[in-house]
Formats: sequence, structure tokens, C-alpha cells
Amino acid sequence: MQTTYDSKVISVLEDKIQLIETDKGSIYLVGPIRLPVSLDRETVVFQWYCWLNCDEVTADYEGIITKLASANLAELQQSSVLVYGNLANADEAIIRMHSICHTGDIFGSKRCDCGFQLKLKNIVEHGTGALFYLANHEGRGIGLFSKAMAYILQENGLDTVEANEALGFVDDSRNYSDAIQVLKALRSKPVTLMTNNPKKLEALKSAGLTVSERKPLWGDVSEFNEKYIQTKISKSGHIVAEGTCCND
Ligand SMILES: [Zn+2]
Repeated sequence: MQTTYDSKVISVLEDKIQLIETDKGSIYLVGPIRLPVSLDRETVVFQWYCWLNCDEVTADYEGIITKLASANLAELQQSSVLVYGNLANADEAIIRMHSICHTGDIFGSKRCDCGFQLKLKNIVEHGTGALFYLANHEGRGIGLFSKAMAYILQENGLDTVEANEALGFVDDSRNYSDAIQVLKALRSKPVTLMTNNPKKLEALKSAGLTVSERKPLWGDVSEFNEKYIQTKISKSGHIVAEGTCCND
């Protein structure tokens, strides 16, 4: 079924699409889109961008738009980034690369501490920055269904790393390359990275980004996530002992 688009629709959207070529194909970055967010009873306006990874590289945006309705994108996950302040030009900017956590971010699970609002607040307080929400990172890259299985194994005595490995996964299979490409498209100056995870720091640095500073994340430690946090420090090389985030 062929849909003919109004030229106005195409021109409005084309103005907001940026094509980023990568080793594997392309990233279509759409935005900025004004996104007012309720934060501590105040409304804070962010600029939101979303991106789509594609195998093909084409500047035929009409062709891309035409395929959207049949691409079943809701079955796949797209990542996005919430930007605060003048990200392109500010001397200082703080970045958080947050891996999706369905149970923590949406349900508020205490098995981890993905204190998502805290990080947004940190960015606003810093003055300029961005929160990347990485949708293909659930359960450190194993997916939500496998994470449910891993939780069952954890209830039976395995730690986070053992549970993932028992299911045939490596401990951490997350990839940051598309997020880094998007960050590079939005900012070329150095960034401060909010993380406890040395792998994230390395991933950004090896992709050519200048990271001027690392800021640790302060999270909620409770009886429910104590063992989990301890495993991250002892097995996954995390830097901080004060509290951390499962997605970090
Ligand atoms: Zn979590």
C-alpha cells in the first residue's frame, strides 16, 4: 500500500532529521522536540531527540517516513536523549548514559536503584547536560524476559553475574556506539560523565570522546539490593562503594 505524503509533512519532518553515517549503516536522529518535564513540582523544559538505527544509508527521508507505518517499531526499541541547556556550545556539560530498566524506572523496583529522576535533577543543577536513555540495554543487554529468568536464579542463590552467565550470556553485553555517535552529533566539546562504571568511561574514551571528569552516582542501598551492589563492586569492577545503579 503506497501512501502519498503531503509535501508540507515531508518538509516539516525533514528539517528535524539528521542523518549520521556509521560503520554499520546509519542513525536517523530526530529532534529537537520541546519536552516540558515535571521535576520536584516545577516544570523544566528539555529538548528531546530520538534515533533509529538502520542498515541502509539514504538521505531519502520521504522513503524512510513511508516505511514507518509498516516497520513495527513498537516491537523493537528506540533510544532517545533528553537535553538540557545549550549542549552544543556550553563549556561544561554533564552526561548520563542510562540503560533502560523496566522494573526500576517504571515500577520503582527496589531490587536495583535506577534513580532516574535524581539524574535529571543533577543535569538541571549542573546547567547543561543530557540524559541518554538506552533502550536496547535491558538487564545489561540480556533483554527483559531473560532478566526475569535471571531474577528467579538470583532468588535461588546466584548473584547477578552468575545468573547471567548461567543463562548463556556474558556478564555485560551492552554497546554504546550509537549513543556515542549521537552525542558527537550534538556536542564536540569535553563532557563530564556521571557513572560508577569504568567500562562506560572506557567506551566513551575509546570512541574518541574527551571526558574531562567522572562524577559518581549516589543511590539508594537497601536490604533488597545490597548483595547486587556488592557483586558489582567485587565482580564488575565498579568504582564506588556508596551505592550504585543496576544499569550503570
Ligand atoms: Zn534497575
